[in-house]
Amino acid sequence: MIYESTRDINRKINPSEAILQGLSVEGGLFVLRDLGKNKLDLKNLVGKNYYEVAEEVLKLFVDFSEQEIKACVENAYKGKFSNEKITPLVELNDSYVLELFNGPTSAFKDVGLSLLPQLTKTALTKVNDKNDILILTATSGDTGKAALEGFKDVERTKIMVFYPNDGVSTVQKTQMQTQEGKNTKVCAIHGNFDDAQSGIKELFVDEEFKKELLTKNIKLSSANSINIGRLIPQVVYYVVSYLELVTTDKIKLGDKVNFVVPTGNFGNILAGYYAEQIGLPVNKLICASNNNNVLYDFLKTGVYDKNRDFLKTVSPSMDILISSNLERLLYYVSGCDNAYVASLMKDLKETGRFEVTKEILNRIQEKFQTGFADDLDTKQTIKKIYEKDSYLLDTHTAVAYKVLLDNLDKEHVNVVLSTASPYKFTESVYTSLNEATNEDEFTLMNKLHEQTKVAIPENLKDLDKKVIRHKDVINKNEMKKYILEKLGDL
Ligand SMILES: *Cc1c(COP(=O)(O)O)cnc(C)c1O
Repeated sequence: MIYESTRDINRKINPSEAILQGLSVEGGLFVLRDLGKNKLDLKNLVGKNYYEVAEEVLKLFVDFSEQEIKACVENAYKGKFSNEKITPLVELNDSYVLELFNGPTSAFKDVGLSLLPQLTKTALTKVNDKNDILILTATSGDTGKAALEGFKDVERTKIMVFYPNDGVSTVQKTQMQTQEGKNTKVCAIHGNFDDAQSGIKELFVDEEFKKELLTKNIKLSSANSINIGRLIPQVVYYVVSYLELVTTDKIKLGDKVNFVVPTGNFGNILAGYYAEQIGLPVNKLICASNNNNVLYDFLKTGVYDKNRDFLKTVSPSMDILISSNLERLLYYVSGCDNAYVASLMKDLKETGRFEVTKEILNRIQEKFQTGFADDLDTKQTIKKIYEKDSYLLDTHTAVAYKVLLDNLDKEHVNVVLSTASPYKFTESVYTSLNEATNEDEFTLMNKLHEQTKVAIPENLKDLDKKVIRHKDVINKNEMKKYILEKLGDL
């Protein structure tokens, strides 16, 4: 089983190395050239639980032994998700909502970031690397906390997370400042997310820094969504939700379904494409964007152009203008043409724009549809669905739900992926149902609960009463010094 870089056919490595390296040295992403050559045996998966399905999916992507895979999956999810189905499917108006937010931080990133540390730990033993791994992550809110929870107390790993001091919500900041675990460190930066992100990126190419870490037997790795080890776990819930529709007689095995996905970095929806490639009967993958609708424009016209204003929306986890994982789709729809992908990415880097051929656009449109919703649409959808169905959508899921309603395909069953608990974005959800207010988020959480009776997730409840364990704030040019200094504590 061999992975290669999307941009260079000669950079080939095994699955363990792909997980440990995260990104290829010339900037490409790791992909399986043979994706889809081996298919899932869907018929035999009907009636199996999340763990069993996950094991079968993982076998197609990593060369670990059956026991290793089983251990990875169980360590990742057992006792860590509040619903025993891990990703339950809920019926709503003849469509379905796939709830991905039952993990330790109430965002869908938990699904990938719970399994990635287990895959990392196992990969280290496979390649016989004696060094430990240090995960460095810059976060605008959700990824950092989910990564911290995933890597917390996982052997042979340490994690440090940096966030913009004034750039995250109160709930997000409190979630990170109260982080537990012997191998975790969290630090705020005076600056914005880009400052934190570029600080980290510089360290990843700082040879002197990496040499110094090696003298302490430490190698760097990253937890962001270009790591194939974060993408593979997300393929599982597409399969699980499909099987659930079969066992509950909503569809017959082989019927095709649509998935509507609130999209930012294109990771989640790409996992749906992977699921289709390994044999899941998918009609359309519907890419839902907010007002940062660079992907919407691309999927309609074949022109990807990030030269536009970056807009702050009520669905901040989708505020993104460079959707990194799109590169993997371009690789596959171009027939694994590394040189072509490299030329598109070069255009993007130099001009902020690229354009695919008509033929490739057609191929993409055979599988992908798209729509977008602005903030007003999003908030009105939350209000409408709550008042009509007593179901509370978060802002990201509401973007997708609006796109579903705008493009309703009655010929197929439709599944909307729900990526966050409404309490993770309390203020926007509360003000969708009520007048604007300047009360703090924890007060609003309780008010929203009183009003809707929707349970507050345990990990968010009483968050304001937890002990603050991480108070450090530094300047952005102090990151390297900080890391070397604090490494000894972990
Ligand atoms: C990250 C995130 C998304 C976007 O997912 P991608 O895989 O980046 O497309 C959507 N909703 C929420 C709540 C998220 O945290």
